[in-house]
Amino acid sequence: MTDHPQDLAPLRRRLAEFAAARHWQPYHTPKNLAAALSVEASELLEIFQWLTPEQSARVMTDPDTAHRVRDEVADVLAYLLQFCEVLDVDPAAALEAKIERNESRFPVPGEPEGRAPEG
Ligand SMILES: [Mg+2]
Repeated sequence: MTDHPQDLAPLRRRLAEFAAARHWQPYHTPKNLAAALSVEASELLEIFQWLTPEQSARVMTDPDTAHRVRDEVADVLAYLLQFCEVLDVDPAAALEAKIERNESRFPVPGEPEGRAPEG
């Protein structure tokens, strides 16, 4: 997997400017953006709908399917970022808090709670 560190703030601003220039803000209510996010997540799922687990693991080897996957990932992220914009949610902070909660809820088997794995 390639590592592409990317600050999401400039993308968030660009999406907000894109919507504002087209006077789309009245449509960008939290409810509408949550619905749009769900629709785009379903479009991503549709690509995998009838594939076997093995076929689904190979989708990125077909250029057309890989393009569709990237396109739907972009749609999902775009609506998630716009949703975060209108509700003033910091998605990275929310994710970090969630990971920390999950690390506490689901300790590594065999590791004493609160101790980082060695290695
Ligand atoms: Mg789409």
